[in-house]
Amino acid sequence: MAWDAWGLPERRQDLSDAQRALLTAALGVSGDLQPERDAAAVTLTESALTSAASTALAEAVGADHVHTDHDRRLRHSGGKSTPDLLRRKDSGPQQAPDAVVEPADHDQVAAVLTVCAAHRIAVVPFGGGTSVVGGVDPEPGDLTAVVTLDLGRMNALLDLDVESGTATFGAGTTGPQAEQLLAEHGLSLGHFPQSFQFATLGGFAATRSSGQASAGYGRFDDMVQRFRVVTPAGELALGQAPASAAGPDLRELFIGSEGVFGIITEVTVRVHPEPEHTVYQAWSFPDFAAGAHALRTLAQSPDKPTVLRLSDEAETGLNLALASDIGGAAPTGGCLAITTFEGDRAGAQARAGRAAALLTAAGGTALGEQPTRAWEHGRFDAPYLRDTLLRAGAIAETLETATTWQNLAHLRQSVTAALTGNLTAQGTPALVLCHISHTYPTGASLYFTVVCAQSEDPLTQWMSAKRAAGDAIVAAGGTITHHHAVGRDHRPWMAAEVGELGVAVLRAVKNTVDPDGILNPGKLIP
Ligand SMILES: Cc1cc2nc3c(=O)[nH]c(=O)nc-3n(C[C@H](O)[C@H](O)[C@H](O)COP(=O)(O)OP(=O)(O)OC[C@H]3O[C@@H](n4cnc5c(N)ncnc54)[C@H](O)[C@@H]3O)c2cc1C
Repeated sequence: MAWDAWGLPERRQDLSDAQRALLTAALGVSGDLQPERDAAAVTLTESALTSAASTALAEAVGADHVHTDHDRRLRHSGGKSTPDLLRRKDSGPQQAPDAVVEPADHDQVAAVLTVCAAHRIAVVPFGGGTSVVGGVDPEPGDLTAVVTLDLGRMNALLDLDVESGTATFGAGTTGPQAEQLLAEHGLSLGHFPQSFQFATLGGFAATRSSGQASAGYGRFDDMVQRFRVVTPAGELALGQAPASAAGPDLRELFIGSEGVFGIITEVTVRVHPEPEHTVYQAWSFPDFAAGAHALRTLAQSPDKPTVLRLSDEAETGLNLALASDIGGAAPTGGCLAITTFEGDRAGAQARAGRAAALLTAAGGTALGEQPTRAWEHGRFDAPYLRDTLLRAGAIAETLETATTWQNLAHLRQSVTAALTGNLTAQGTPALVLCHISHTYPTGASLYFTVVCAQSEDPLTQWMSAKRAAGDAIVAAGGTITHHHAVGRDHRPWMAAEVGELGVAVLRAVKNTVDPDGILNPGKLIP
């Protein structure tokens, strides 16, 4: 992965003429790309790792797997949000882990935690490093140093139980690795977040990730069957049976725990046969309210799609203005909805047919399959455009929330108003786009994309807008995050989310499993 951007360096893209023209007309941004920065020119803070600690870590994982070189430290210096990328452009010394440690298995993770507790070193678990909330920031807290624990070597399929439909992976297995290993057995996991190419199963679990096919296969939370976890206080193996009445489900302590309670070393997930057939259907609705009503009706019906999304008027219009390949009966306005139905041929077609009747009755116009196929084709490309826009003098950042169907319109209006108001007051009026990205019978998530010109200090500019949006989300009754997690960036709103008693419960758990506070300081718990 590129050190200063999302994804593969060779897939960096220029702006198209249409994109450049729109940027200039709508936001007054010239679109000229700033030159790329040489990684070797970035200054990092000195490594604070003592030679005694270095020797002990080398004994734990092998000397070849303890790294203090510039390149490795730089590549683990943070995640992939716009603020992360802006910080990497900074000319001063940058925060980086004092070492990057790569364990091979569960026992080596346990050995690393023992060394770090003894030497008072903070440990930041690192899967794909795709966090967009500061989750992998190398914060030492009040400890002597910080190591980033890169789990990338733990990427094997450890067990496959075809009869029960479960597979156990090393926590550092990436999305594509998992799908490839399962495909050899005709199976699939079906978890496709936009960060799929680089993010890991341990990271999905630790952040409560939600993939694009969540309507059909559920969130990653729903897929997790068992965990193996190492904490500084000992080990836990959780989830022995498919269901249990043995008290509270302690797996829930580690789903969404963002590395502050323990290191997930092995994840057992539910898998299913690769779908035989996919039906693609796109729909147009006159406006967002009509589209949201239609999605609710479908989400509450037995005929669940696999993918179900609805862009608002602004997002539909912008995508239309920029896309050359939407094709088919492309929408001419209103709101575009995307659906897919996966399964055996007859079952998928039957569900899609019943859904079509339902969406038509709710005011939808069928657009054929091409807009949905075009969405699927380009579904992992948007982050590359985000980074090009950043180099072109614009900010293009996203944020997300969720609420009940009843509160959805109010939440969308509140967040949009907060973002537009804040950025206009800063002298950089913004385009605020929104889509429904995940649906449930009781509600849905809203995913906002904000595009505006950069001010002189774009980091401060965005953090101000993000604060306004976070406050608006809380005031309007939304969750501070539906799937990006809390990390460092959403921590200020955690007390509002779970209450002071909820925070105290989290602290009590932390004190029990990590009494010296070595795990991922400064994240999740205020
Ligand atoms: C372009 C882009 C698109 C994205 N799209 C989506 C999306 O569609 N859906 C979605 O849900 N998220 C999305 N995200 C957010 C991010 O990809 C997810 O949060 C993902 O689940 C993180 O996985 P990772 O392996 O990269 O974890 P990391 O970023 O490495 O870590 C995330 C957090 O989990 C902790 N952690 C990681 N591994 C472990 C482990 N084994 N044990 C304990 N703690 C651990 C880390 O310390 C950190 O706090 C996106 C991010 C980007 C940059």
